[in-house]
Amino acid sequence: MKQISIIGAGTMGNGIAHVFAQTGFAVTLIDVNATQLEKALATIAKNLDRQVAKGTLTEEQKATTLANLTIQTDVAIGVSQADLVVEAATENIDLKLKIFKQIDEAAPANCILASNTSSISITKIAAATSRPTKVIGMHFMNPVPIMKLVEIINGYATDKDVTNTIVTLSKQLGKVPCIVNDYPGFIANRILMPMINEAIYSLFEGVAGVEEIDTVMKLGMAHPMGPLQLADFIGLDVCLSILKVLHDGFGNPKYAPCPLLINMVTAGKLGVKSSEGFYIYTAGSKDLVVSNSFKK
Ligand code: NAD
Repeated sequence: MKQISIIGAGTMGNGIAHVFAQTGFAVTLIDVNATQLEKALATIAKNLDRQVAKGTLTEEQKATTLANLTIQTDVAIGVSQADLVVEAATENIDLKLKIFKQIDEAAPANCILASNTSSISITKIAAATSRPTKVIGMHFMNPVPIMKLVEIINGYATDKDVTNTIVTLSKQLGKVPCIVNDYPGFIANRILMPMINEAIYSLFEGVAGVEEIDTVMKLGMAHPMGPLQLADFIGLDVCLSILKVLHDGFGNPKYAPCPLLINMVTAGKLGVKSSEGFYIYTAGSKDLVVSNSFKK
C-alpha cells in the first residue's frame, strides 16, 4: 500500500487524509467542491501546528506530512493510481452508490474500496461494484487524528485477505481496529444511538433536565461527555437518520426516534452545527449553556 485516495474533504475526510499522510502514505484528497479542498488543507495545517506546539510532532514531520498530500476535484483521475480508496463523502445512499460505481470503473483492479459510512450497508455499497470481495467498511471516529478506534465492517462478500490487509493498515496508522459484521448501525451506532434516544426520551417525559441527564452519565458512568451534549456534537439530524436506519433495518419499535428529536430536527435545531440543540453554542466560548427551550 502506497497510494491512498480519500473521497470527500469534509470533517472526516480531512482527518483521514491527515493520519494517512502523517504515517507516510501518498494521499490524494478528492472533493467535488474546490473550496472545501482548500479549507481541508488549511484545517490539516492548523492541526499539525497544534501537534508541533504540543511537542508530539517536529517541524520536519509536519512538512513531510503536507508534502504527502495532493488535492483533486476529478474523482476518476484521483483514484486512477490508488491501492486503497477511502470514501468519506456526504451520508446519502444514492450518492454513495453512484460514487462506488464511478470508482469501481476508474480505480486499478486490485484496489480495495473502503467506506467510512456511519450507517449505510457495506453489502449494498459492494453490490454497486464489480468487486464486492474488495469492498469493506473503515469507520473512523471524529476527530480522526485523536480517536483510536477504527470499526472495520465486513460486508457479506468481503474477502478475508482484504479484512486482514485493512486490520494491518489500521494498526500502522496507530489505530485500534475492531472487526464487526454488516448489520444496521454496525456496533458503535447500534449501542450509542439507543442510549442517546433514551436520554432524549427521559428529557421528553420530564424525568430530568438536560444538565441532570448529562451529569448522571458523566459522573455516574465515567462518560467524558453526556449523551445530550454528544448528540449536539454529532448533529441531531445525523442521530435521527441513524435511528431511522436501525428502526427500518430491524423493524423493532425499540429503535423508534423520540418525537422530541424529530421536532428539534424539523425546527432546524441540529446541535453545534446550527449553534443550538440541547445547549446553545457561542463562537469562542467553551461554556455549556442549556437551550432556552429546556430551561426550568
Ligand atoms: P461532511 O458533510 O463534513 O463532508 C462531506 C464532503 O463530501 C463534502 O466536502 C462534500 O463536498 C463531499 N462530497 C459530496 N459529494 C461528493 C462527490 N460526489 N465526490 C466527492 N466529494 C463529494 O461529512 P462528514 O461528517 O465528513 O461525513 C462523511 C462520512 O463520514 C459520512 O458517510 C458520515 O456518515 C461518516 N462519518 C461521520 C462522522 C462524523 O462525526 N462527522 C463520524 C464517523 C463517520
